[in-house]
Amino acid sequence: MALLDVTQLSVQYQVRNRLFGRRKRFLRAVDCVSLSLEAGETLGLVGESGCGKSSLGRAILRLLEPTSGRVVFDGKEVTRLPPRELRRQRRGFQMIFQDPYSSLNPRMTVGESIGEALDIHRLVSSRSERQERISGLLSSVGLDPASSDRYPMEFSGGQRQRIGIARALAVDPKMIVCDEPVSALDVSIQAQILNLLRDLQKDRGLAYLFISHDLAVVEYLCRRVAVMYLGRIVESGPAAVICRNPAHPYTQALLAAVPTLRNSPASAPRPATLGGEPPSPLQPSVGCPFHPRCPVAEARCRTDTPRLRLLGPQHEVACHLASDQGSMVSHSSPATSAPIQP
Ligand code: SF4
Repeated sequence: MALLDVTQLSVQYQVRNRLFGRRKRFLRAVDCVSLSLEAGETLGLVGESGCGKSSLGRAILRLLEPTSGRVVFDGKEVTRLPPRELRRQRRGFQMIFQDPYSSLNPRMTVGESIGEALDIHRLVSSRSERQERISGLLSSVGLDPASSDRYPMEFSGGQRQRIGIARALAVDPKMIVCDEPVSALDVSIQAQILNLLRDLQKDRGLAYLFISHDLAVVEYLCRRVAVMYLGRIVESGPAAVICRNPAHPYTQALLAAVPTLRNSPASAPRPATLGGEPPSPLQPSVGCPFHPRCPVAEARCRTDTPRLRLLGPQHEVACHLASDQGSMVSHSSPATSAPIQP
C-alpha cells in the first residue's frame, strides 16, 4: 500500500469581483488530481507559478480544505479526520516552505522554534532531553548546535532553510511536502540544500512531495515527476522519461526554459519555447486547457478535453497527439516572443 494516496482531489476558491457584482465566481485551483507516493520515494510536482501545485501540496496536508476528493496517508483518510485527530496525524507529514523566514517566528530563537514542534506533540519529557534533541537536529542539518540561542534574522537564506528543515524533522515525519524549498536561494546554495535533502532521505527513509517550477532541479532529486497545468496533471512518469523524452507540448516547453542545466548533448533537437500567459482559471477554455498556447493544436483540441492515458510504463499523458516518440514541437514551430516563465 502506498504511503500517500490522493484520489480526484479538487480545491475551489470563491472569488468576489466588483465587475461581476454579487455573482459568485469559482476558481478551480486543483482539478481532480490523483497521485500516489511510496515510503522513501520522491515525487516531483512541476509547473508554472499559479498552476495549482502549492494549493495541491497544502490541500494534501489539509492546510487548505479540499472541495472534494480523498487523501489517504499511512492508511488513514486525512480528508475525513476531525481536527483533534488531524493534529495528531500531522506528526507524520510536515512541510518545508519556499521562504523559511516567513515560516519562522522572528521573536523566537532557533532552539525555541524547533522545541515548539517537540512540545506540541509531547515528544520530550525533560528540559535536558529537549535540548539534546534540538542540538541533534541542528547537527543533522549541518548547523552548529550552539546556534540554538540565536534568532532567524542572524542567519543566511540557506541556513534559515536548514532551520526550517530541522523544525520539520523534529516530529520524525514519514513524508515532507517541500514547496519550492530552493527557488529563493543562490544556485550554489541550492545544490547544498538538495544534497542535504537527499542525505536525510537516505538516513531517515523520508518520502518527499517536491514542488518546483524547475525541471532540472526535479530531475536531480526525483524518481517520478508529475507536470501540472491549470490545476490538472497533464503528464506524469519516471523522471528520466519526463525530462529526456517528454510527450506533452507543455512539458517540452518547460524543459526548453531550462536549457543550460540540461545534460542533453548540444546537438540534440530542442523544443521551441512557448509564449503567452495561461488562460484565467476563472474562464477555463473548452477542449484542451493548453490549446490557446499549444503550437501543434488541431481542431479537435478546441472541443475535446484530453484525458490522461498510458503511453508507456508508468507514463501518462493528457494530449490527443502525444506519442512515445517524444517531441511534437518542431524547431520551426512559430514560437511567440516570451518564454514560459517560472
Ligand atoms: Fe496541444 Fe492538442 Fe495536445 Fe492539448 S491536446 S497539448 S492542444 S496537441
